[in-house]
Amino acid sequence: MLVVRAKLEVRDLTVALPTTNGWVRPVAQVSFTLNEGESLGIVGESGSGKTMLSLALMGLSPPGARASGEATLRTSTNGSSDGSSEHTIDLLKASPVEPGKFCAGSVPALDALPPGCVFSPRCPRREPECDTRVPELRSVDEQHQTRCILVP
Ligand code: SF4
Repeated sequence: MLVVRAKLEVRDLTVALPTTNGWVRPVAQVSFTLNEGESLGIVGESGSGKTMLSLALMGLSPPGARASGEATLRTSTNGSSDGSSEHTIDLLKASPVEPGKFCAGSVPALDALPPGCVFSPRCPRREPECDTRVPELRSVDEQHQTRCILVP
């Protein structure tokens, strides 16, 4: 059985946004560690930076935004066909997601995920099989994994 473990470490994460009145920092020096199996709830007023924090960690900050500090995702995989592997990803230096290169539409609610591939309702390359089959996590190479049935 494939087992993937992950740990997220965020240190002094700051996100600055350009405005007509200069730079604002909705996220200022945020630090936390999220270990395997832990969840983190972020509470704050509207506009307090919750969304900007999450978007920065996913490489989805709005155009012009500057993220600084450290955000490291460490993963280890056991049980894949090519053995065990460990990866460390600097999330702030990972390739940004280019507009138009991610699925349009809303992300499904976690308590109402669609059957099959969770991207199926929004995926422009969906096959009939995608609506019923949950793709298994497979290694593509030493640093990449996929759950898409179209990736050889
Ligand atoms: S398995 Fe691949 S092609 Fe099918 S819906 Fe998911 S991402 Fe799209």
